[in-house]
Amino acid sequence: MTQRQPLAVSDTLGPTDAAINEVVAAIGRASSILAVCHVSPDGDAIGSLLAFGAIAKHLGKPCVLACADPVPEMLQFLPGVNTIVRRASGPFDLAVGLDASDPRRLGDLFARHAQADASTLNIDHHITNLRFAAVNWIDLTAAATAEMMVLLADHLQMPLTRALATSLLTGLVTDTRGFRTNGTSARVLQMASRLVQAGAPLFQIMEMTLERRSVAQIHLWGRVLSRARLHGRILWSDVTAADRQAVGIKENGSDAGLSSFLASALEADVSAIFVERNGKIEVSLRACPGFSVSEAALALGGGGHPLAAGCNIEGSLADARRLVLAALDNSLAGQGFPQPFFDEPA
Ligand code: AMP
Ligand code: MN
Ligand code: MN
Repeated sequence: MTQRQPLAVSDTLGPTDAAINEVVAAIGRASSILAVCHVSPDGDAIGSLLAFGAIAKHLGKPCVLACADPVPEMLQFLPGVNTIVRRASGPFDLAVGLDASDPRRLGDLFARHAQADASTLNIDHHITNLRFAAVNWIDLTAAATAEMMVLLADHLQMPLTRALATSLLTGLVTDTRGFRTNGTSARVLQMASRLVQAGAPLFQIMEMTLERRSVAQIHLWGRVLSRARLHGRILWSDVTAADRQAVGIKENGSDAGLSSFLASALEADVSAIFVERNGKIEVSLRACPGFSVSEAALALGGGGHPLAAGCNIEGSLADARRLVLAALDNSLAGQGFPQPFFDEPA
């Protein structure tokens, strides 16, 4: 693989036009594009992927949309979801990674094409992003990669169709857990309002992605929650293969709601869920405002946001628990400060 110098690295804290121009130029240079979102895809990954497909189409560029893992049941309602493939042969001259801080999160598909002649583009909003592509557009102020897709669509003066608005709003809703996280800025709310105006069904998106789950999943939660244990102010539990078998779930994607729910405990500052899957342990971490889990996740080869991060550990549940709790103890020491609701008394 030829080593390329990054063309643009943008940690956007202000105007995004320069970064967006680089992105548009990279797409403009391409004649055939592969766009990939991260494995164990969430609503932002799939929503951004579909939105990127619409943007490429608007620019007249053939684009294959791919994800190494299947699209979860709760996202099957998204228009165009059946165009997403798990394998693609190419050739492609641009490989785009979406919503992934680390190229390993994009699976073999991205790696194969990034190592061939394809140029690479990295569009993401994680603080732990490794700037792995030729062009990196990283907006740490964005609550979701879908928010960056809105900026890109606006920059291109694209009409917001109902289908595009639905994909975009799904990304905003899921990454902000229904406009509840601290990343929920005025910009996000203004965008959401425009997307609803364009026909995106906010209520249905909220229902499908945040509210509804199967009875089997509720039983799984029951088992996992009843075993939750405190380690200092870290509340943790695990999801074993035996748990899934007992409730009749063959394979589920990541269940982000479970780790967020654990973090709601008054006695906890941080939560950790250890999921036994495919011979490794997937770790999902959440922090209360004032604490951050992204450093510990990054130290363990993963990544994420200050309040929501994750990593994969090779080994047993016990190995993962030992490693992760030690990394959290280490990184949380000295963290924690009061979080005033307002800067000044009202
Ligand atoms: P999750 O707990 O799966 O909802 O993930 C929380 C956040 O951490 C998301 O923004 C993920 O993209 C990120 N994340 C989870 N697992 C990993 C990993 N293995 N490597 C990098 N980032 C991850
Ligand atoms: Mn994601
Ligand atoms: Mn995201």
